[in-house]
Amino acid sequence: MPIKAKSILLVDDSPEILESLGAFFEGEGFENIHYATSAEQAIKLLGLNSPDNDFLDVDLILLDVVMPGMDGIEALRCIKKHEHFKDVPVVMVTKRSEIEVLQKAFAAGAIDYIVKPAKEAELLARVRSFMRLKEEIDQRKARETELIAVTNKLTRANAILQRLSYIDSLTGIGNRRYFDELFRKEWGRARREVRDLALVIVDIDFFKAYNDLYGHLAGDECLRQVAQAMADALKRPVDFIARFGGEEFAVVLPQTDQSGMIHIAEELMAAVAALAIPHKGSPVSDILTISLGLASMVPALDDQVDDLLAAADTALYMAKNNGRNRMEYPTVPLPS
Ligand code: GH3
Ligand code: MG
Ligand code: MG
Repeated sequence: MPIKAKSILLVDDSPEILESLGAFFEGEGFENIHYATSAEQAIKLLGLNSPDNDFLDVDLILLDVVMPGMDGIEALRCIKKHEHFKDVPVVMVTKRSEIEVLQKAFAAGAIDYIVKPAKEAELLARVRSFMRLKEEIDQRKARETELIAVTNKLTRANAILQRLSYIDSLTGIGNRRYFDELFRKEWGRARREVRDLALVIVDIDFFKAYNDLYGHLAGDECLRQVAQAMADALKRPVDFIARFGGEEFAVVLPQTDQSGMIHIAEELMAAVAALAIPHKGSPVSDILTISLGLASMVPALDDQVDDLLAAADTALYMAKNNGRNRMEYPTVPLPS
């Protein structure tokens, strides 16, 4: 099995050894063989001092231990300081196989050592296995990069899906699921912080008649306009509106007491009135109107989230019964 033509750096202060190693690797199919006769030259070749991180791409480094000037161990430390060479196998070449030197080499990041003069068969077998190792590392890195990219894409897609799953497709405002989750969160917050939480349920008056008179498509357009107008009427970022179902909407107003809630409800009525949508089928007005049920409370520990919902619902029922185009709210504070 030929070694896949790759790039190798040979460092030895003996030109003869360099030459014989070079001839050997050339014969084994290496194409890019770089030579250095000193540690300093190797450092320059690898680009370790280059100001713009212009590093040499090598798949294997053979590094002589004993050289005049900087020795192989010191050079190895310089090389391994750089992220670029972290996974490049470095094999020490030494005449002296003293344990102490090799220990230092391994501590500095060498992967193995070869004793000079190297037997060709042994050299080949080991180099092959290092090259394979390097290849596997490169492949793993590429897979990891790919995986990270896919994960990022998925995270983004999930965020979009999550947002979509909270949006009512007809009106573009929050849907019932959005309401359920946020209302529960705001309920918990109000209970923890002992603050008011207000809820307004809005129902369009005589909407069945509107559909019958103007058609279902006009009804849809009407729902869109009413939703948008009410959403625009909310000024505080914590306030939110959701489509509760059919022609009903829910408006949640955190940290809002009864007078604040009444004020917002008036704004909602005014916003819908300003649309001036003609409604000839309505017995109460020439234009489309809404009825509103309001309730606010400071949730106590044993209160349930449904208590506030039920109170607003009862108020809405009263508004309908009392003639529509109006708001109602409990006159006595809710028990807490
Ligand atoms: P009330 O004043 O008592 O609320 O009378 P109403 O006619 O508004 O109430 P009712 O519950 O009888 O009718 C609600 C109507 O709302 C009936 C239904 O067709 C219409 N509706 C519900 N969802 C949609 C929708 O997405 N698009 C359209 N165009 N109409 C809808
Ligand atoms: Mg209704
Ligand atoms: Mg209605």
